[in-house]
Amino acid sequence: MPEYCLIFDKDFSLVGFKNTHILSSMRLIVVVSFFLVSGFAFTNKLYAQIQKPFTVVIDAGHGGKDPGNRGNNYYEKKIVLSIALKTGALLKNQKDVNVVYTRTSDSYITLNGRANIANKAKADLFVSIHCDAHNSNAYGAGTFVLGLHRNQDNFRVSQKENSVIFLEDNYEQEYDGFDPNNPESVISLVLMQEDYLNQSIEAANYIQQSFVKNLKRKNRTVKQAGFLVLRNTYMPSVLVETGFLTNSSEGAYLNSKRGQNEMSRAIANAIMQYKSSLDGTLFNGLIMDSSSTANENTDYIEDSNFIKYRIQIAASTKKIETASYNFKGLSPIIRKQKGSLFRYYYGEFSTYNDASKAVEKVKSKGYKGAYVKAFKEGVEVSITPEMKSN
Ligand SMILES: [Zn+2]
Repeated sequence: MPEYCLIFDKDFSLVGFKNTHILSSMRLIVVVSFFLVSGFAFTNKLYAQIQKPFTVVIDAGHGGKDPGNRGNNYYEKKIVLSIALKTGALLKNQKDVNVVYTRTSDSYITLNGRANIANKAKADLFVSIHCDAHNSNAYGAGTFVLGLHRNQDNFRVSQKENSVIFLEDNYEQEYDGFDPNNPESVISLVLMQEDYLNQSIEAANYIQQSFVKNLKRKNRTVKQAGFLVLRNTYMPSVLVETGFLTNSSEGAYLNSKRGQNEMSRAIANAIMQYKSSLDGTLFNGLIMDSSSTANENTDYIEDSNFIKYRIQIAASTKKIETASYNFKGLSPIIRKQKGSLFRYYYGEFSTYNDASKAVEKVKSKGYKGAYVKAFKEGVEVSITPEMKSN
């Protein structure tokens, strides 16, 4: 946890502040006042008010060798990672919020490993993010807390999410003989989270309301089921099923940049509402910071099955805000970092032809070296003759 220390220049005017790492889990809110003692000497006093930040663990389900569900050929692991990172990015802009991720890349983490991360962080809330799948046309978002499933459908969701333990070598020992396929097995899980049940339901309600009110997602309500990932966390814990990848329109929505931005915003808003309900502060909506808006984390949010074309207009070691006024009025601009180099791209086109036409416009603005690049799932790919003729 950072401790803030203020930096002054020779004239005792505040020029900045920097992080140090002396105290753990404490944050100092520093009030500075100056007292003029004589014409040549100053003293200043620091009044510190100590307040613990709200720590939330954002858990992107699945990852690595565990792809999650593959409804409509999407990858649950990719979609939930994108939503998780965007949610975290929004929360990091808020006051007194500390964000911990269980994973920030395509890596495999066991269910107990996720709980351990949350416990180690002494988190105030654990939020696990998933996408559902069903062989019907089912759609809608649902939020779960740990408990006894009341019906077959709730059991089905937990069974699907719990079955990832079969990828672990010693799952029988690790999960005390828990059998994801046996509905009775759940009873052994429930006691562990009982202390946190009310608060978990509270948090889940904020999330579910946010989906329904803000995004008009179909309300699958707050439910209880035996999710292993929620068993060993010592804090209020919820699992979010953001929607069904198997439903063609909901799957496309969740796989799109817009869907992921909206879902993450809804989750982040709900988490802030929950936090405010605990500390009695007023919450007026998310604070946005243009340098870290969700739109800019582009590396995880590409639609998986399509090639996209962008026009590279500049590369620089300088990190420039992607506002249009920095780029001769061009918008949208995205920035991608590779090593110490930032590349700046204009637009997003679904065909090479459209992108080529736009290159002329970009060149006429003064970016003489502009050219088209192709991306698949956020990764640059070379442009083939087929792409050009398509
Ligand atoms: Zn899942």
